[in-house]
Amino acid sequence: MHPFSNIGRFAFSLFVGLFIGLGIAHGQQAADAIAPEFGKTRQSNSLVQGKSQMIAAAHPDAAKAGMAMFDKGGSAIDAMIATQLVLGLVEPQSSGLGGGAFLVYHDAASGKTITLDGRETAPLAADENLFIGPDGEAMKFFDAIVGGRSVGTPGTVALLEEAHQRFGKLAWADLFEPAINLANDGFAVSARLNQSIQGSSESLFSNEAARAYFFSEEGVPIFEGTKLKNPAYAETLSAIAKDGAKAFYSNEIAEDMVKVIQSSTNPGLLSLEDLAAYKVIEREPVCFEYRTYYICGMGPPSSGALTLGQIFGMLEKHDLAALGPSNAESWRLIGEASRLAFADRGRYMADTDFVKMPKGLLNKAYLDERSKLFDLDVVDGKLLDTPAIQPGNPPSDHSLLFADDNALELPSTSHFSIVDSSGNVVSMTTTIENGFGSRQMVRGFLLNNELTDFSFTPEIGGIPVANRIEPGKRPRSSMAPTIVFKDGKPWAAIGSPGGSRIIGYVAKTLIALIDWDMDVQAAIDLPHLVNRFGTYDVEENSAAEDFAPALAGMGYKVQSRNLNSGLHGIVISQDGLLGGADPRREGVVFAK
Ligand code: GLU
Repeated sequence: MHPFSNIGRFAFSLFVGLFIGLGIAHGQQAADAIAPEFGKTRQSNSLVQGKSQMIAAAHPDAAKAGMAMFDKGGSAIDAMIATQLVLGLVEPQSSGLGGGAFLVYHDAASGKTITLDGRETAPLAADENLFIGPDGEAMKFFDAIVGGRSVGTPGTVALLEEAHQRFGKLAWADLFEPAINLANDGFAVSARLNQSIQGSSESLFSNEAARAYFFSEEGVPIFEGTKLKNPAYAETLSAIAKDGAKAFYSNEIAEDMVKVIQSSTNPGLLSLEDLAAYKVIEREPVCFEYRTYYICGMGPPSSGALTLGQIFGMLEKHDLAALGPSNAESWRLIGEASRLAFADRGRYMADTDFVKMPKGLLNKAYLDERSKLFDLDVVDGKLLDTPAIQPGNPPSDHSLLFADDNALELPSTSHFSIVDSSGNVVSMTTTIENGFGSRQMVRGFLLNNELTDFSFTPEIGGIPVANRIEPGKRPRSSMAPTIVFKDGKPWAAIGSPGGSRIIGYVAKTLIALIDWDMDVQAAIDLPHLVNRFGTYDVEENSAAEDFAPALAGMGYKVQSRNLNSGLHGIVISQDGLLGGADPRREGVVFAK
């Protein structure tokens, strides 16, 4: 019997999720898709249709603030800024002024796709031993995170200003109004924020301001539904609204950040010089073809688009559309392509301003050759084994002597997608790294722990790790804000939080959109199966678990786990905009 013949039992919930909620048919099918077991863990959101303006983001208050900018005649970039500023208030555990971000932006007027790198930098005083303890060993991950040590120079505020100067229409100060008002008047604490506080209670106590803000006087996490005010955040925003990003990178706000970082237990090295020297960098987007589509995203220091490009390059010759999402062979191919790409990612990808990277990581011949590694495993349709894999030798103009990186990335972060009525498209992933970042709160916002995205170990057996810490360097990221083009025009914007699993979440969603012809909500809903290092993670309490026996039979070690993506995407169709929000978090799509 086919191991997934019980897929049919999900058909009813699939119909409920896809069609009753929508009330529309739009020519896209998802009929044989594996559907999540709606009701067991979550409800699906309904696909949202819009005419010309749309925001898909992690929190209703944030999307609402963005839409308010549209009402005032603002652009997608204006909406992006208002959305980000409110996210920093209502979803403070994920992103904010104290963090970094990558923006992938399609500018309709010039037809150009621009990527802005607002990633944090390592302090100029830091060296490769920042996370090596007194015993000469790498620190434990959480020992490194909490406190000032893990804080990199925040980039988000500089990114917002740069994007506004180039593509904003409204006055800078107007973009701050919704967040300032909400911070002064109070917002309702969401279930997710309450749970996140509970989950980080102990570490949040390490910082007096965080303790006072997120807990009652008795030390109880603030309840869901509590109206929470953040006057300190309102004040910080007012200063930046008035004087621009320099109010953040110099004077009192900067001095307070440095004070907290340098005086915390587990102090850090970030200084006023680091803040004053911070620069947003415009980088060439990393783009690749997949079937009739052209996919663009963020290049190094992110590994997002390059790893996706490798995965899609290796998958292209396989007919995933014919195989379909209910076939374990599809997931074997996706898993193999993914773990091969992750092997190269671990060895070669890092901040290219500091480290030379092979130029041929997306070379077609290289990827074709590499994909033969997973062809060979199958004899008569049966996978014999899942052999250990090694990074490849991509075409390069320099020697490739790097040891593999072991940086851990744990999920928090936020992604939003925006389209405006001029056809401008924003795909932005924004983060303070871990939930609540370094747990250090200053003037109403939290400081990131992005430096723990570096490899803690600078070398292995005398061979340097590409993603080792160096002064001023940006830690390697997995964030993958993406814009997909069809017939030369933007067709979709998508991205997700999720640490290094971001790449798998985005890959799956793009395959569901492109190969399996699903609508964007169905593509987001589709249960996750993610393979980074050979272990196959399947989303717990979903139909993905039904693949476990077949994948185990192929030799994979399979793990059921909570795969908490936060995919927020928009498809620009002939009939208008279609938006989807991840039911695994609290996101929404608003449209007009
Ligand atoms: N810090 C991670 C990165 O930049 C993202 C963390 C997350 O998504 O939770 O890749």
